[in-house]
Amino acid sequence: MIFPIKDTFRISTRFDEPRPLTVPPKERTHVHGAIDISARTGTTIHAPERGTVFYFAAIRDSLRRTMKELDLVGPFDFRGEHYFYDTYGGIVLLFGQSGWTHLFCHSYLNQLFNKAPLRLRWKYHESPVRERWPLFAWHTFEDPTPVSAGETIGFVGSAGQSSGPHLHYEIHHGTKWETWGDRVNPETLWTEAKI
Ligand SMILES: [Zn+2]
Repeated sequence: MIFPIKDTFRISTRFDEPRPLTVPPKERTHVHGAIDISARTGTTIHAPERGTVFYFAAIRDSLRRTMKELDLVGPFDFRGEHYFYDTYGGIVLLFGQSGWTHLFCHSYLNQLFNKAPLRLRWKYHESPVRERWPLFAWHTFEDPTPVSAGETIGFVGSAGQSSGPHLHYEIHHGTKWETWGDRVNPETLWTEAKI
C-alpha cells in the first residue's frame, strides 16, 4: 500500500475520535471512522493500490432537480461553485484489488475536471448508496477507470463540510456497494517510518 499523500501533511483527526452527527439528533456523536490528513489545496492524491476509480459528488438535495436539468444542456462549469456541495464534497472512490474500498473526500470538482489525468465527463445518475445515505444526491463522472498503485487520482480540497483543506480518508471492507462492511483504520496500514 502506498500512502496517498507524498507532500507535506499532518494527521489532524484520528480514526477513533468522536464527531458530532451531521444529521439530527445532533447531540448524538459517532466515531470519526476515518483519518483527516491536512495538506495544501491541490496536493496530489495517489492511489494506495491498483484498482478501479469512480468520481462522485455529494450534492445538496434541494439542488438535485436543478443539477439534473443542467445535465441536459451540457457540461456544467464548477469553478467557484462550491456552495452546493454537501458533507463529503467531491469524492474519489477506489475499489482496490485487496478487496477494500478507499474513499477520498472534500475534493473540488473543478480541480478533478481540470487536472486529473483521467478524462472526466459529468453524468447524472442516482446514487447506488442512496439507501445508505439518503440525504445526498450523487452524480458520477464517467464509468469506472482502472488505475495502478501510485497513480494520481485526485487533489486535496475543502469542499463540503470542511473547515480547511484536508483529505478525509476512509477504508471499508468490501468492494461492492451492497456489501460494504466494517471500516479499517488507514493509519494501521503504514508504519510511522513509512509516513
Ligand atoms: Zn474526516
